[in-house]
Amino acid sequence: MRLKAEKIVGRDGEVFFRCPRCGKLFRYSKDYTKHVNKAHRHLLSQ
Ligand SMILES: [Zn+2]
Repeated sequence: MRLKAEKIVGRDGEVFFRCPRCGKLFRYSKDYTKHVNKAHRHLLSQ
């Protein structure tokens, strides 16, 4: 299973990546990936 980030566009046109599991916002997709690997690893191994 893979967690797909929700893309959020801010007021300034910046794109953020939102974790669908816990709602955290990340500026860069690699930060989101790191978060998923660390916080939701158990979901990825299913
Ligand atoms: Zn999360």
